[in-house]
Amino acid sequence: MKAPDFDYCKPLSLEGVFDVMERLGDQAQLLAGGQSLMPTLNMRLSEPAMLVDLHGIDALSGVRVEGDALWIGALTTHREIETSPLIRRHAPLLSRAVKHVAHAAIRNVGTFGGSIALADPAAEYPACALCLKAVLVLASRVGQRRIVASDFFIDLYQTVMRPGEVLLGAEIPLSDPTSRFAFGELARRHGDYAIVGLAAHARIESQVLHDVRLAYLGAASTPVLAKRAAAKLEGHALNASTLAAAQAELEHDLDAPADLTTSRETRLHLARVLIGRVLAELSDEDQR
Ligand code: FAD
Repeated sequence: MKAPDFDYCKPLSLEGVFDVMERLGDQAQLLAGGQSLMPTLNMRLSEPAMLVDLHGIDALSGVRVEGDALWIGALTTHREIETSPLIRRHAPLLSRAVKHVAHAAIRNVGTFGGSIALADPAAEYPACALCLKAVLVLASRVGQRRIVASDFFIDLYQTVMRPGEVLLGAEIPLSDPTSRFAFGELARRHGDYAIVGLAAHARIESQVLHDVRLAYLGAASTPVLAKRAAAKLEGHALNASTLAAAQAELEHDLDAPADLTTSRETRLHLARVLIGRVLAELSDEDQR
């Protein structure tokens, strides 16, 4: 199928974007890389009258250190995330996760902000944003709002973004030198959306885990922090018994969805398998 007819504009300022959104309301749709939006139009799941291309807006671009945070502009492509030395140094979780995002052709144009705004629960960045305690910066005609990732994703493909708001980018606290990160996912083929994935953070002192954060993707209607499982690991060394205790909590932490190919039980089983693999990678001295 082909997309329905639509108009296209490319404002060169945020004010220009707000003007179009005010004028057309929900008939206007923001366009970033188009890697999720264009298939939706081609399948006629959405029929906006106007696509508003964001690529002329400087405020949405760039990766830089600002004070004690790393700024990632919404228009940063997956490929730029993959190759950025700043991201590798200050947010290494994203450098690890991006290798699982789609395929090279999609990574060349798809954007960080498009993925966060879309809020697909099986996507990598939303879970990473939770794990990294990212702050998402939104702009509208009336000013800016800063929302921590744990408050941003509210349901399947739903966020707290209001009509007329644009995601400018994310502030990510700079990685502490004692922090460790690991990422893993299980997918049918490399580059496919994950069946289940896990982004993990901990500091390890004398083999004891601290500040454990386990953010799952594909395991609920939003990316989700497995808080009960993390509590079983917090202040303990990783061993067979603490891992089993954490695995046992996952059925309470996750509301694993069933679909045509994967039952809830299978997804939970995969989530338990992943926590073992990802924590082993996190504890690996060689990752440093
Ligand atoms: P668009 O498609 O342009 O926009 C997506 C949505 O976000 C639209 O509703 C748009 O209006 C809105 N939007 C975009 N930017 C902003 C902004 N700054 N502020 C507010 N709203 C905004 N993704 C994964 O994470 N993992 C995968 O494994 C994966 N596999 C894929 C496989 C295929 C075959 C395809 C086609 C896509 C896949 N994707 C995957 C999706 C891809 O990562 C997209 O790039 C991403 O989801 C959306 O980014 P985009 O820049 O293309 O956004």
